Amino acid sequence: MTERTLVLVKPDGVKRGLIGKIISRFEDIGLKIVGMKLIWADEKFAEKHYELDDEWAKNVFNKTKTAAEKEGKKFEYDDHLKFGKQIQKWNMNFLREGPVIAMVLEGAHSVEIVRKIVGHTEPRQAIPGTIRADFASLESYNVANSKERVVRNLIHASDSVENAEREISLWFKKNELFDYKTVHQDHF
Ligand code: ADP
Repeated sequence: MTERTLVLVKPDGVKRGLIGKIISRFEDIGLKIVGMKLIWADEKFAEKHYELDDEWAKNVFNKTKTAAEKEGKKFEYDDHLKFGKQIQKWNMNFLREGPVIAMVLEGAHSVEIVRKIVGHTEPRQAIPGTIRADFASLESYNVANSKERVVRNLIHASDSVENAEREISLWFKKNELFDYKTVHQDHF
């Protein structure tokens, strides 16, 4: 049940001075920070993080298509891989715009719970109370795509236990992760 997940405060969150507020959301529910650092990724590293896989491209394509159709707009792309490549490139550029906070959070169901607290990929659709809604609601696919960039949604969070393991080993060495007991562990 106890899982570890990777969370990044992306360059927009760091530049906007939201690191503390974002970390508080995770600390408040008792998640344990077992690793944390400030790091400025280069191109090679950004590409490793934003690995292009078919399933991810399909998912990004479908989410964006659904949002366009909800507004009665025609979605211009028909090739999910081509669309995914474009988003991957924009993601790589964005990640390199400044330093990011990388952290590993540990707790029961942490992958699922962190995704819930973070909220929808498009902040405009995120539910109030989630981090993306509370700090970035004005950001949308429309705004981002008209500027040829990704949506600035403050956070990356692993989307599965399997991806969390891959991402944690990319961002952290074993000796940068620490084992200790929090007060919450006596309660949960
Ligand atoms: P999430 O970060 O919610 O897991 P995805 O893995 O689907 O979302 O996408 C990775 C990142 O790519 C998102 O956080 C967002 O910044 C960006 N992104 C995804 N789809 C689009 C899009 N249609 N337009 C602009 N940026 C996008």
